[in-house]
Amino acid sequence: MAEEKKQTAMEEIVSLAKRRGFVFPSSEIYGGFAAIYDYGHYGTLLKNNIRDAWWKHMVQYRDDIVGLDSAIFMHPTTWKASGHIDSFDDPQIDCKKCNARMRADHVLELFGINADKQPLDFINIELDKLRELGKLKCQNCGSTDVTEAKRFSLMVKSNLGSPTDALSEENVVYLRPETCGGIYLEYKNTVDSTRVKLPFGIAQVGKAFRNEIVARQFVFRTREFEQMEMQYFLHPSIMKEKYDDWKQVRWNWYLEYGIAKEDIRWYEHEKLAHYASEAYDVEYNFKSLGGFKEVEGIHARGDWDLSQHSKFSGVDLSYFDEKTGERFIPHIMETSAGLARLFLMFLDKAYTQEENDGDVRTVLKLDKRLAPIKVAIFPLMKNKPELVAKAKEIFDTLKMDFMCEFDDNGNVGKRYRRQDEIGTPYCVTVDFDSLEDGAVTVRDRDTMQQERVKIADLPTFFAEKLK
Ligand code: ATP
Repeated sequence: MAEEKKQTAMEEIVSLAKRRGFVFPSSEIYGGFAAIYDYGHYGTLLKNNIRDAWWKHMVQYRDDIVGLDSAIFMHPTTWKASGHIDSFDDPQIDCKKCNARMRADHVLELFGINADKQPLDFINIELDKLRELGKLKCQNCGSTDVTEAKRFSLMVKSNLGSPTDALSEENVVYLRPETCGGIYLEYKNTVDSTRVKLPFGIAQVGKAFRNEIVARQFVFRTREFEQMEMQYFLHPSIMKEKYDDWKQVRWNWYLEYGIAKEDIRWYEHEKLAHYASEAYDVEYNFKSLGGFKEVEGIHARGDWDLSQHSKFSGVDLSYFDEKTGERFIPHIMETSAGLARLFLMFLDKAYTQEENDGDVRTVLKLDKRLAPIKVAIFPLMKNKPELVAKAKEIFDTLKMDFMCEFDDNGNVGKRYRRQDEIGTPYCVTVDFDSLEDGAVTVRDRDTMQQERVKIADLPTFFAEKLK
């Protein structure tokens, strides 16, 4: 008998994500569309909960940060000013045999060579050394016939506007490669229209687009993705202090939502952009990707962004400090996280398989605040109208406060299995006794313990448990 091939951690997550309606490959009925994904019902709920957890800590709980939702399309000069048109690119190499494309810096990383943000000359010298040793190979077919590295722009062009405009280089419109561009452009309107005074931040969550050379790590690296970014505007004299504070704030956020401190670490960028004074990434130890990978960047960016936009737009973006009488261009400290990367991180952390009565139970041990469904409500049997009616009544009450699901498919065992796989913290079963004693069985996802709770007490019971 052929031995069943054991799935890798990534294959298990991808399979669960599809089977249980978290993530689908885009355009599957047309054969798929590389590096783009759609989020199903549970995926959307989980992603929104992660986004809301970020927003709560970054905006709602603070008095120094305001929100923004800027457009994906911006004036083309935005990306000239920011330097993206000239230098937002990655080093690409191609296999001459099978035409596979690879990121040269990622290939070098496999040999312990850090080529992050290094010039092409450096990269090609290092690639040549590997070539001479016969170690430079195509990651797809193993051929040693691999090209030199060249720069590949990550900017995604659009033909928005009239066809004649789109033909002129001057008028090319791009889909934003990062959300912070919109924040810089709305800095002045925000200062003029809200109560904020320096230091303060603007936060936004939204789509970004990058023409990634290689994007085959599920939702970790895609060509369309969402970022959650916060730009903190300040006087340069407090940059160091605020930078350290923000590192701590962001670190604590991961711990708050159940990531173990052993599973995250700081990666310090050695090679900084010329305007930056410090750059660290938060890296998470992905079981599904075989080690630590970046989920968030925290960067001290100096006054580069506002100076450039001032210069290119001709609009004065300086700030006048009424207390000190000083006028200056604010410096910027940014925190930038990928929503899909955090989504994968939480799935990676939560995905658990455990022995249960000789069976293997798959359960997503998500933080309860992040779980897509908080409470699932079942009638013990589908064909008993009085049980169904009572379960529906409970669903109608609880749904006003919590994301709930009514489920009467299959037997209770199957329903528990399904709810475990989507990470539902609590299941409520209405049985015949419920009709007599006005109580139901509540089952806990993690302990699988069951307890009887009065129906009338359910709203307060869950309000307490799901805090
Ligand atoms: P990488 O080195 O992995 O390409 P980056 O350093 O270019 O990432 P930033 O430009 O700092 O990333 O973007 C901030 C955050 O946005 C990253 O930490 C990551 O979480 C997310 N991100 C960047 N590119 C992608 C992508 N292609 N798909 C999903 N998330 C992304």
